[in-house]
Amino acid sequence: MMLAATPVEDDLRHLCDRIGGRPTGSRACDRSVDWFLEKFRQAGADLAWTEPFPVPHRWEGDRTAARVVTPEEAPLDAVAMPYSATTPKGGLERDVVFIGAGSAEEFERAGARLRGALLLLDSKVLVTFEDLFGDYLRMPAIMQRAEAAGAAGILVVGARDRHLLYRHIATFGWPAPLPMAILAREDGLRLARMAQEGRVRLRLEVAARTGPAYRSRNLLAEIRGRDRPEEIVLAGAHLDSWDLGTGALDNGANCAMLLDIARQMAALGTRPRRTVRFALFTGEEQGMFGSLGYVRAHRPELDRHAAVAIFDIGTGRFTGFSLGGREDLRPQVAGALRGVEGYGAGRHTADAFVGTDNYDFLLEGVPNLVASQAQANYMENYHASSDTFDKADLRELKVNGAIAATLLWGLAESPERPARQGRAEIAEVMRRTGLADQMKTFGLWAEWEKKERGRPD
Ligand SMILES: [Zn+2]
Repeated sequence: MMLAATPVEDDLRHLCDRIGGRPTGSRACDRSVDWFLEKFRQAGADLAWTEPFPVPHRWEGDRTAARVVTPEEAPLDAVAMPYSATTPKGGLERDVVFIGAGSAEEFERAGARLRGALLLLDSKVLVTFEDLFGDYLRMPAIMQRAEAAGAAGILVVGARDRHLLYRHIATFGWPAPLPMAILAREDGLRLARMAQEGRVRLRLEVAARTGPAYRSRNLLAEIRGRDRPEEIVLAGAHLDSWDLGTGALDNGANCAMLLDIARQMAALGTRPRRTVRFALFTGEEQGMFGSLGYVRAHRPELDRHAAVAIFDIGTGRFTGFSLGGREDLRPQVAGALRGVEGYGAGRHTADAFVGTDNYDFLLEGVPNLVASQAQANYMENYHASSDTFDKADLRELKVNGAIAATLLWGLAESPERPARQGRAEIAEVMRRTGLADQMKTFGLWAEWEKKERGRPD
């Protein structure tokens, strides 16, 4: 039924073209929450509601401008990194120092020249998910070195070909110590050549609307279970996006898919044993604050969350599910997917990573899955001005909808359900999968260790 004509295409087009890019805290983000609330009601969900949650710091990108002033005037295309510090109005004019890949040795070699300078950091072109993770993982140490060296700001050579601009985050929702901007790759490479040839001065202006903590909203909707309505299978996707594109692949497509599944389930005339709850989170791009807000607000209910499945990688075909480090989930997931075995979504992996809205469920010990997807055109448009409706593969999106619906129904029907883990078991997952190391690199370890985030017992 998911494969027949459904409004999923119209829904995604409306979200992308009429509402557009929707960073958390923006008017467009609010409008997208209200629009989906109405759509889930129209779809026949038994309940649909919104819940507020706090986002610790406001940062909305405004103007970014970069211009070489010495040896010759030359404008460069640049875009601020989210949570970048702002510059004084009119910008700062500083020498540019090329810092290569930003290793400790390169910083040491550059020495005192870094004080008060704008550092220019090289990048490799992003091709794979490994490249992307590598790029995220290198930034915290580079920011620290730059700050320690007394630099005035960081410029990054764009990691995308053909002048593509994109938002690339370097902190998990906390203000960065310095102004930081990405230069269009060709402009960045030109600047690197010039800076290695002789003295280059550059004027950088970063404007952003910044502010203290504020509230955003998650959208929740339910198809109530017939037999154990208090037990929940949660299907989640984040609705917020960055602002240069219109958030089609990341992650409007999967939001439209979940709405389509709710619509088809409501039309079935029969209900699954457990409740299927749909969650469209916001605050994901800033640091997964929507799903964090959800687990905090629903902590008394978490024991009754049979499973959580998150969808966040565009419209490439599902290849299987990441099991959040839990091999014990494999039989149940494989069983739930039996009806769609021919679609090739059977390669499940017992890995765990920091990257999307399953994170806080994992930290709470709730069985959690993330859909693995064929890369397709996801990486080339990731967080970029090119992430627009025309990039969505609607045929694959519909096949994915059929797979996801089968999984959710199967999990909601399954006679057994895997247990919630306690703190010691969660810690063991973190150690075994390398998640602990990622958390340390990203500065997320202390809040787990101090029991401010995650299951305390
Ligand atoms: Zn995403």
